[in-house]
Amino acid sequence: MADTTLMEKLVSLCKRRGFVFQSSEIYGGLGSVWDYGPLGVELKKNVKDRWWRAMVHARDDIEGLDAAILMAPQVWEASGHVAGFTDPLVDCKTCKARFRADKIQDAQCPQKPSKHPGEHSTCELTEPRLFNLMFKTFMGPVEEQAAVIYLRPETAQGIYVNYLNVLNSSRQKVPFGIAQIGKAFRNEITPGNFIFRTREFEQMEMQFFVKPGTDGEWFEQWREWRMAWHHSVGLTPAKLRWHPHGPGELAHYAKAAYDIEYEFPFGWNEIEGIHNRSDFDLGRHQQYSGKKLDYFDQAANTRFIPYIIETSAGADRVTLTLLVDAYREEQVEGETRVVLGFHPSIAPIKAAVLPLVKKDGMPELAERIYHDLKQRFTCFYDDSGAIGRRYRRMDEAGTPFCITVDGQTASDQSVTIRLRDAMTQERVGIDRLAAWVSERV
Ligand code: ATP
Repeated sequence: MADTTLMEKLVSLCKRRGFVFQSSEIYGGLGSVWDYGPLGVELKKNVKDRWWRAMVHARDDIEGLDAAILMAPQVWEASGHVAGFTDPLVDCKTCKARFRADKIQDAQCPQKPSKHPGEHSTCELTEPRLFNLMFKTFMGPVEEQAAVIYLRPETAQGIYVNYLNVLNSSRQKVPFGIAQIGKAFRNEITPGNFIFRTREFEQMEMQFFVKPGTDGEWFEQWREWRMAWHHSVGLTPAKLRWHPHGPGELAHYAKAAYDIEYEFPFGWNEIEGIHNRSDFDLGRHQQYSGKKLDYFDQAANTRFIPYIIETSAGADRVTLTLLVDAYREEQVEGETRVVLGFHPSIAPIKAAVLPLVKKDGMPELAERIYHDLKQRFTCFYDDSGAIGRRYRRMDEAGTPFCITVDGQTASDQSVTIRLRDAMTQERVGIDRLAAWVSERV
């Protein structure tokens, strides 16, 4: 399968099965903004739940936070975003298209035949100019400079400005972390590749506050934990790799940075960044706000500004990665079977309940089982069409288990469970059914 075809097939499956739709589609769509349908919202929620469980619930040293999207404009002065959150932009005077100057080699000129921008004799590219990626809006009734505020381009700043609130209210001690999931907005110049780079997206970020001098060790530890998490949600390990940032690539705040990259059909690309941000963030907020943000270490009787190790992943990007990684086509009995082979904990629907035929009391029994299981996990009931077709529909939605009520069920209170990947079946008693599925999801 050619790589571009894979993305096309995935985009089409996502629309057909209700994972992802283009925003405002009936008006022609809004550039690089996407909506999640019934299956997509469950998939993305499972990603966020798995992250939250690993980062907050399973640990004693990380607290959760949900900060507002709108923040005091000084935050973005202090963070460096007003001055420096820019991409170099070039325009083509001939075709009016815009490109990121640092990504010209990844871009396509709209003129045919397909070439990079600047390679056609008629291309006329401008000099690069800096373009700030933050969306601006106004607070209150007057649209004037003094009322300008921004939609946050990252969730991290909400954590830094609340660091003392969380520290004092939770009685944590350094080293400790704060985790947050929330929307972020970037007016990307060249968004694209479906939900890979969008203008509105969700981030899952964790900032870990440590004593200066211990930051190197914590950085390595967090790298290990975060890669292990990506393996745990079922991503193929051979398609994940580390990309260390060289000196020219390092952000102004970072002492060290590594990206976790995945091999997408359109090449290796970042899905998460792990950064050693030193004391830059708290130092700057202390300077700009005039409020003391240092930490008193009672044991050592010293004060210091904590260093921060950040782990920053995109919920949408991880969702796309899971879709790409899970998609496969197989030839079964002369037909193509499309499967989304999600890890059961990630699958939007955990089990489908299917009466073999629509008679002999099977639908009634199946509905009863469905209503019972639905209390515990996401289930789907389907009694229309041949059983083979219904299995295929569930394969495409990534449902790991299909529970079939058949002629034997009424007499011995058992059903078959058909496994999505192996396509084999097991017979299980109805009384053990909920436990059987729960153990596997
Ligand atoms: P890129 O180089 O791909 O633009 P970045 O280095 O600017 O990413 P960070 O600022 O480190 O990204 O953001 C952390 C994470 O947030 C990324 O690893 C990615 O998963 C996600 N992310 C960033 N920008 C976008 C976007 N426009 N659309 C979707 N997810 C994004």
